[in-house]
Amino acid sequence: MITKTEINTVLNEYDQNKITVGTLGSHSALNIFKGAKEEGFDTVCVCKKKSEIVYKRFPVADQIMIVQDFGELLDEKLQNRLKQQNAILVPHGSFNAYVGTRNIVDKLRVPLFGNRELLHWETDRDTQRKWLKNAGLKLPKIFESPDDIDGLVIAKFPGAMGGKGYFLADSPKSFHKKAKDMLKRGHITKENLDNIHLQEYIVGVNMYPLYFYSPLTEEVELLGMDRRYESTVDSIGKIPADEQLETNVNPTYTVVGNFPIVARESLLPEIIRMGEQVVTESRKIAPPGIIGPFCLEMVITDDLKIYTFEISARIVAGSNVGIGTSPYAYLKYGEGMYMGRRIAREIKNAAQNNELEKVVY
Ligand code: AMP
Ligand code: AMP
Repeated sequence: MITKTEINTVLNEYDQNKITVGTLGSHSALNIFKGAKEEGFDTVCVCKKKSEIVYKRFPVADQIMIVQDFGELLDEKLQNRLKQQNAILVPHGSFNAYVGTRNIVDKLRVPLFGNRELLHWETDRDTQRKWLKNAGLKLPKIFESPDDIDGLVIAKFPGAMGGKGYFLADSPKSFHKKAKDMLKRGHITKENLDNIHLQEYIVGVNMYPLYFYSPLTEEVELLGMDRRYESTVDSIGKIPADEQLETNVNPTYTVVGNFPIVARESLLPEIIRMGEQVVTESRKIAPPGIIGPFCLEMVITDDLKIYTFEISARIVAGSNVGIGTSPYAYLKYGEGMYMGRRIAREIKNAAQNNELEKVVY
């Protein structure tokens, strides 16, 4: 495990007037880079050849380091190159999906913005659940075994699969039938089935508030809100019920994009308080707790009950809907604030006050 002392040593060797902001070229990289540029940082993009076009067409990456595979982020040589650039890396969903949080905690010596230990908590559904429960949030029920299913459930798999392969079932029988079908269609593997997570399906609408916690000001900020655009579930309503039954279509939840949302204003007190409760609890489980962006994945029912089914303890791709601005960021900051920029602003403020150690782990 890389210790905080080790990271502080790296930071102390940095020229703190020449910090660069780095990340993997995917997910929310454009958001992060644009924000860093607007706050005056140089940027470095660790990128696969096939994605290079993105970071060339949108002029936000000052340097591009090409890799075959994102796992190469752990290579000694690449890490040294990043350290020579005085790089602070901003982790996002592709770090979880392609580098692995265990590897990040154990092997990544380049300073990261945020609390790397919580990144790891986030990927384990059991620890995540404990965190949200202890924070006092309402969660969907869990079923230990498919044979316990007695209502509508959503079957999920570990890791940031982005909803790929998820399916619904309402009895042990329909579960086994659908699991077989999903296997046959290649949406899931046998290994996925062994690690299945069965959650009560909450009928309601999704909202994903985008929060930022600043250890410098000790405030939880609400900077935006989104919902996902998921294939196929968001297209099923276009097929008449008769055809749905005939063709036996099953909803799947592969995320392909996001929409911005504003919430009914009377929901905001609870949404803001929920963010604060999660931050307070995070201090107990992995001191000093959340630093920077996080997101609660919520379903809101028709009697306005808010259920939380997941947390991301890092920037989420949904925050890309706010690049430029969002209503909530505008209310707080006026023009031109968004998650990528808010991260860079925090790094800048910390560097100016000699407090980088408070935001980098
Ligand atoms: P990618 O680099 O696009 O494969 O994304 C890395 C991880 O983040 C994958 O597990 C994706 O499912 C997830 N992800 C990417 N984009 C989004 C999005 N817009 N909303 C939610 N999750 C996403
Ligand atoms: P996740 O990968 O956990 O973020 O879930 C992917 C998608 O599945 C979400 O965006 C929702 O559309 C849906 N979903 C997940 N969990 C639930 C739940 N407990 N109740 C209703 N919908 C859910």
